[in-house]
Amino acid sequence: MNNKISVGIIGGGIAGLVFANFLKNDKKFHITIFEKNKYLNVSASGIQLSNNATRILNKIKFNEIDKNLFSKIEQVRIYDYQNKNIISKLSLINFSSNFDYLCLDRNVLVNFLTNQITENVNLFHRKAVQVKNNHIVFTDGYAQKFDFIIVADGMFSKIRNQIYKSDSLQKKRITAYKGLLHSNQIENSSNVELFLGNNKHFVFYPINKKGDFSFTGIFNLQPVYSDLDYHYPGNVTDLLKIAGDAHEDIQQIISSAKNIYQWPIYTHSKIEFGKKNIFIIGDSSHAMVPFHAQGAAQSIEDAYCLAKLFQNNIFSAEYFRTKRLSRVSMIISKSNQNLFTYHLSNPFMKIIRNFFIKIICRYSYISNLFFGKIFNYDFKN
Ligand SMILES: Cc1cc2nc3c(=O)[nH]c(=O)nc-3n(C[C@H](O)[C@H](O)[C@H](O)COP(=O)(O)OP(=O)(O)OC[C@H]3O[C@@H](n4cnc5c(N)ncnc54)[C@H](O)[C@@H]3O)c2cc1C
Repeated sequence: MNNKISVGIIGGGIAGLVFANFLKNDKKFHITIFEKNKYLNVSASGIQLSNNATRILNKIKFNEIDKNLFSKIEQVRIYDYQNKNIISKLSLINFSSNFDYLCLDRNVLVNFLTNQITENVNLFHRKAVQVKNNHIVFTDGYAQKFDFIIVADGMFSKIRNQIYKSDSLQKKRITAYKGLLHSNQIENSSNVELFLGNNKHFVFYPINKKGDFSFTGIFNLQPVYSDLDYHYPGNVTDLLKIAGDAHEDIQQIISSAKNIYQWPIYTHSKIEFGKKNIFIIGDSSHAMVPFHAQGAAQSIEDAYCLAKLFQNNIFSAEYFRTKRLSRVSMIISKSNQNLFTYHLSNPFMKIIRNFFIKIICRYSYISNLFFGKIFNYDFKN
């Protein structure tokens, strides 16, 4: 171990685990992850993994997981939130056809990533409080030295704030509700159903082949909770009140839901990728609004890109920044555009929006212009 390059990762979420997975077999490195939470008892929660994310995950054999544990998505069907009239259907099979667009329970991904690293990577359940002089400092005051430190502690990253001596976290006037439901009556489709309403939208998709579905409702509403955390328990009654103008099918979905959580939405006003021997990846670098379902996908891309640079002996945060900044900025900008267009309430503007949605979905070369840049991405060193 003495001659190895020691790498300490703060945060065993998607970004930290993917990074560790890509370096775990490289004997040059000795990798240690510090994750503050135990993974046990985390309630199920749906996640969409677009083709650009599965392209990377398949390199570590994610395509070999049990096929019942995810749903392959072929279309995004876009509807009006109030009357469920179809606006258009976006085919996803035109993008990176070798790499599927999947929906699944986030725990399936995290379990896969943790199970893959067990032999070669140390994983400790410890909370880091500081990074100082190449050391990670923990709550009990113990400090451990590393050659390189990867900050992957999510959007509320305290370590990032401390490194840059500023807090760039911005609370948006947006609240998301996520929930799950089990039904043998709903046809187990291969679609993401997207409903566009006034100042809100609703997304519904299957997360496996066992009849489990996930929904997310996102509303222009001030989050009720103010302390910094990822999600809080929500309940059906409150959500039905907020979604009072929804089509009865949406209300039906909400009524039969369990595990409802409220997610206040935050972003970072500035993207940071680290300095000297500290690297920042995932939400701690660039938390974004979830209007393109790209947060985890971009964390995966960051982790893969940085792992490739490390394998090629490139240990420069500045170089890492040049590789990632324009892409992440483009996706943040597209996510913000969706925030605006999905939540339009002016009837005239909605007619124009729907017209453009129809055009984009109808012609594959136009949909490729809009989405190909995101979904067909292949990182090259
Ligand atoms: C409503 C909603 C829906 C979403 N849907 C999608 C989607 O469909 N597709 C998609 O791609 N993205 C989606 N996202 C975004 C996605 O969840 C995040 O971008 C992704 O989880 C970020 O991964 P990460 O590893 O950077 O951070 P996290 O997943 O937050 O992981 C950070 C880890 O660090 C740990 N940690 C924190 N502080 C410390 C510390 N001091 N010491 C040690 N450990 C620490 C945490 O416990 C956590 O495990 C959604 C987000 C929201 C809010």
